[in-house]
Amino acid sequence: MERILIIEDEEKIARFVELELQYEGYEVEKAFNGRDGLELASTRPFDLVLLDILLPQLNGIEVLRRLRRVSEVPVIMLTARDAVVDKVAGLDGGADDYITKPFAIEELLARIRAALRNKSAKAGNRQSAALSAGLLTLDPDTREVQVGKEQIELTKREFDLLHYLLTNKNIVVSRDTILQEIWGYDFSGGTNAVDVYVSYLRSKLEEPYDIKLIHTVRGVGYMIKDEQQ
Ligand code: CA
Repeated sequence: MERILIIEDEEKIARFVELELQYEGYEVEKAFNGRDGLELASTRPFDLVLLDILLPQLNGIEVLRRLRRVSEVPVIMLTARDAVVDKVAGLDGGADDYITKPFAIEELLARIRAALRNKSAKAGNRQSAALSAGLLTLDPDTREVQVGKEQIELTKREFDLLHYLLTNKNIVVSRDTILQEIWGYDFSGGTNAVDVYVSYLRSKLEEPYDIKLIHTVRGVGYMIKDEQQ
């Protein structure tokens, strides 16, 4: 059973997330301030840490900084709405991901699954595992993309987008999330850019081979799925 530590001083939120995670089959511990959280995270084995940023005694950024001296455990930061500085500081400080409060529990669960998958992929091999969906394979180390045996040339942005979708295979990712992940926090071109680049990927990966990889989930975003149609 995978073990998750929640470091969050708002006890109601912590309790709510705990119940949801337990329902999903995770084993959960909670800490309500930074100092206790750091102590637990540094001394006990966890598969993942959910770390709030605004915490009493020791803030989340500082907890992360100290934790990274002793542990590579995946960390997902919980940040206040639009606190861009926090996100950047968290990711610079070695966080694996962040989620903005208030968040939908489904999105948090999806990110937890993705972070745990990344962790086991890293553990299995010092090099990144190749990612695949149906006939499509992507090698994060060589940056080679293939459909069947055909090599596909992608621009950097196309590659990054495809890599992100594959990392989140079978998870619907919203346009906003993709935009933040691939274009960055300060991009002001709107979510249209995502649609445009998805269409570039489709024209290179799907249309020539008559396969369906990137699915549009109406009103939500995109998802890469394994099975072909
Ligand atoms: Ca807080």
